[in-house]
Amino acid sequence: MIIVEENKCDFCGTCVAVCPVDAIELFEAQIDILHDRCIDCDLCVWICPIEVLHTVEKEMASA
Ligand code: SF4
Ligand code: SF4
Repeated sequence: MIIVEENKCDFCGTCVAVCPVDAIELFEAQIDILHDRCIDCDLCVWICPIEVLHTVEKEMASA
């Protein structure tokens, strides 16, 4: 699953534009990953210009 490094996103919207399934929602000062919709393609991880998106194993994320 995809996580965002807390307090590091600059809300540029680049990841929102590339997500093929609209699984990223951007608000004025908040970004949400809709994990139910995400297909783990990792496009957003590669495209983020400041590298604040990361892929983690689901088990790690819930630990
Ligand atoms: S990994 Fe792919 S599907 Fe999931 S949020 Fe990123 S771009 Fe969207
Ligand atoms: S591309 Fe990176 S910096 Fe831009 S909105 Fe997405 S997570 Fe934030």
